[in-house]
Amino acid sequence: MRSRLFAAVLLLLGAVFVAPPGAAAAPSQPSPAVLAASAPAGLVPDQPSPEDVRRALTRIARASDGRVRLGVAGRTNENRPIRLATVGTGSTRLLYVTQQHGDEPLGTPAAIQALWALGVPDSAWHRWLRSRVTIDIVVQANPDGAVRNQRYNHDPSASGDYSEPGVGYDINRFHNPLTPIEDNPVPESRAILRQWHATHPAVVVDYHMQGRYLQPDGRETTASILWPTSPLAGDAAVGRSRQLAVRNHDAMTWVAGANVTRYPGGDYEGIARNAYGILGSASLLVELSALPQEQADFQIRTAFVSMIATAQGAADGSLWRVNGERADTIPERGPELPDAPALQRADAA
Ligand SMILES: [Zn+2]
Repeated sequence: MRSRLFAAVLLLLGAVFVAPPGAAAAPSQPSPAVLAASAPAGLVPDQPSPEDVRRALTRIARASDGRVRLGVAGRTNENRPIRLATVGTGSTRLLYVTQQHGDEPLGTPAAIQALWALGVPDSAWHRWLRSRVTIDIVVQANPDGAVRNQRYNHDPSASGDYSEPGVGYDINRFHNPLTPIEDNPVPESRAILRQWHATHPAVVVDYHMQGRYLQPDGRETTASILWPTSPLAGDAAVGRSRQLAVRNHDAMTWVAGANVTRYPGGDYEGIARNAYGILGSASLLVELSALPQEQADFQIRTAFVSMIATAQGAADGSLWRVNGERADTIPERGPELPDAPALQRADAA
């Protein structure tokens, strides 16, 4: 009798705890601080060389037992690999891009920490997240520019619009989806466009750095964001991009402690933010301010929080329940701080 009761209780418990596939509640998310702490100290420097990136990614691939897969999205004019790292196997695809401008490095260490934090630990939440989304990251999209600490790619034959003649092209002006890829002179842009066409990501986030600016209320801006503003981007994609912007604004503000404004970007369709919105993705530009060196870790944490919050929101669908109209309440970026160190045309994203 007692054993029959015990079996009935077990059955009942089973009915409670074994929900049907697809209806299972998501395991609760570890805090970003806990996730960040899973990555070992010294995994990657703040301004990594291509060799630092290679070494860190190799270490992650090994430590993750293959859950972080390494690939090459293309080759630069100096034959450096444009590195691609992928975590997760879910049907919702995400694409993050870092350091298209070689002198804007901090998105790259953030991506490397995120790859560790999502790929190496193997908790129920990690397994759930990886079953829902596949995150592709083009890590340090401009390695030739990175080794020169320059904005442009390396192409001494560069000429025409959006180039620095004799130096190279501005990679982030060559994503125009209306240009046939084979006519595109920039190998880094071609690689990212081909990655987009291979995976049709629901979400694209592109990480850059800007100079130093004040908020309208006088505090210093630590990050600015913007969604597609090209008139060629459809209403649905812009609406989802604005949801992505609000989600990132909230996480960066309330979790990372960032002061976030709206980036004053242009409408040109060759800018990644616009191009991938035109193609139909939720698309976002994230610009970390070039704060003094002692705040580099804070800036890396802001980008890390953005990457985790975007992944979580895509995995549990909460991203698409955000009120995108709130994007209009993100304050416009204020005036430039005097004596701020200038990036090369950093104001141009
Ligand atoms: Zn940039």
